[in-house]
Amino acid sequence: MRFTRLRLNGFKSFVDPTDLVIHDGLTGVVGPNGCGKSNLLEALRWVMGENRPTAMRGEGMEDVIFAGAATRGARHFAEVSLSIDNSERLAPSGFNDSDVLEIVRRITRDAGSAYKVNTKDVRARDVQMLFADASTGAHSPALVRQGQISELINAKPKARRRILEEAAGISGLYQRRHEAELKLSGAEQNLARVDDVLEQLG
Ligand code: ATP
Repeated sequence: MRFTRLRLNGFKSFVDPTDLVIHDGLTGVVGPNGCGKSNLLEALRWVMGENRPTAMRGEGMEDVIFAGAATRGARHFAEVSLSIDNSERLAPSGFNDSDVLEIVRRITRDAGSAYKVNTKDVRARDVQMLFADASTGAHSPALVRQGQISELINAKPKARRRILEEAAGISGLYQRRHEAELKLSGAEQNLARVDDVLEQLG
């Protein structure tokens, strides 16, 4: 699966429909401060199902909709579509019946987000799982947001370890270990109670 095109319409500063064609090899995006380079990366994360407005540098998800400028009124919706070359049929099952996958996310003021894969309505979770199964997604460590490197360098050792663990995808294992430890200590307490009862009986 290879990303081939990102189309933005009304997303943040990209008020007019804008195509970013992603060719084979390395793609670089250059431009002056504030021209929208980070917005492009955020659009990519957003179409893959990002659901934290803070990760989009906003307070609510509707903040991704073009908010208006001196000469242009605000828009009522924002849409991002991501085209994926699936000619090698590497997409997860359920999405693997065409050469091109087009994932579209649209947000409308007061109506929230809606997703489509190849024009078919799907749930946010379907899109998130599609990318998770392909080992990528909105939380992929391959997407490095602004300030993340200096955060990593300046972080205290424990916080840095948490970031690295998240990148390695093992933070879920810690949660499961914690839950297992709670169960174990519950079982140990029950055993101690059984011992007490046995002692009283004997
Ligand atoms: P830098 O090089 O300084 O990091 P950049 O090229 O990454 O800049 P971005 O941070 O992607 O730029 O873009 C910021 C611009 O996007 C700002 O001008 C900001 O006003 C504009 N912007 C962000 N959200 C919206 C919105 N909802 N509506 C209109 N414009 C927006």
